[in-house]
Amino acid sequence: MKYNIPFIRPDFPGADDIAEDYRQILHSNWYTNFGPFERKFAHRIADYVGEGYYASTFSSATAGLLGSLIAILGKGDGTKYVLLPSFTFAAGAHAITWCGYKPLFIDIEESGLHMDLKVATRALEDPSYSASIAGILFCNAFGTGSFNIAAWEHLAERAKLPLIIDSAAGFGSLYDSNQKVGSAGRCEVFSFHATKPFGIGEGGAVVSRDKALIESLNSIQNFGFSQKGDAVQLGFNGKLQEINAAIGLRQFERIEGMLKKRRAVYGRYLSELNPDKFRFQINAEQASLCFATVIVKERGRRNEYSAKLQSAGVQVRTYYSPSIHKQTYFKHLKPYIPLIVTEKIDNLVLSLPNHDFMNPHDQALIIQLLNT
Ligand SMILES: *Cc1c(COP(=O)(O)O)cnc(C)c1O
Repeated sequence: MKYNIPFIRPDFPGADDIAEDYRQILHSNWYTNFGPFERKFAHRIADYVGEGYYASTFSSATAGLLGSLIAILGKGDGTKYVLLPSFTFAAGAHAITWCGYKPLFIDIEESGLHMDLKVATRALEDPSYSASIAGILFCNAFGTGSFNIAAWEHLAERAKLPLIIDSAAGFGSLYDSNQKVGSAGRCEVFSFHATKPFGIGEGGAVVSRDKALIESLNSIQNFGFSQKGDAVQLGFNGKLQEINAAIGLRQFERIEGMLKKRRAVYGRYLSELNPDKFRFQINAEQASLCFATVIVKERGRRNEYSAKLQSAGVQVRTYYSPSIHKQTYFKHLKPYIPLIVTEKIDNLVLSLPNHDFMNPHDQALIIQLLNT
């Protein structure tokens, strides 16, 4: 089907802006392996998050998640768990499995759509689980910063477990404390995939206050090599190319404008969609908004709204449905307790276009179709 209003339309720098960078890359004959563009990009990412932060770029967020788990937990023997929500993208569950741990799904809460702190606390205090939990992979759902990230940090500290945060879609988002997403936990992981608000093609980054962790990640993503090219730890190839880093540096020149546009589009959904029929994720107005998430209040009507929009030429999705625990490869895993809220939201969530090229008339049509 051809859609008049696409779900996502990436906003990339123009060809002329990149041409000079590409000439420089050819001239220096340095295409990857921590070249000058990558080094500068890594510093810009860290500075953007705040003073005292460090960043390791990656070829994707998935590679960044895998690297972080290896660096922080070490490779597991397949017997221990890492907590995570099922209501997220499958990358986290894959990374946990590759790293030798078992994903233990925790339900989400209704207002922020994030992993439920109370359920996670119960799991960590549960004698039949606590000793076999190795870490927590929190997910800032849709890149929206959690409204209680400080409570998660306390919980992890009390349990003496690392808190790793998948903020893949959230570069540019703010926590409700106005602190940047990227600044919490042991580290936070971002994606710069073409479909994310800060797109460079394929790419990602891990941000942390821990300089030694970031140095270790730079080694892990380069075959576990030391400075001398000796494989001193388990590694793989997860490096970011120069051309993608060059695109990323150009995106930094445009990021505030992109965020402003997306937040304006989202603000219009927020103020014009009928509140009797739809509700929103808490704190999303401060997010970088890869799309707009709405929860249909009327049970059983989500698919009807989705079909109505699609047949009018509006491309919509239902992220993160189906949740991970319903997907073929992961459905044998037993969640900690039944995922009641996850399953409910799974059937009510509707993802609307919220990109940098939204035409006001197109958005008016979407709003009108949903309100009537
Ligand atoms: C997009 C996304 C990923 C994967 O990012 P890649 O860069 O494509 O590997 C992981 N987790 C979440 C929550 C995402 O939204």
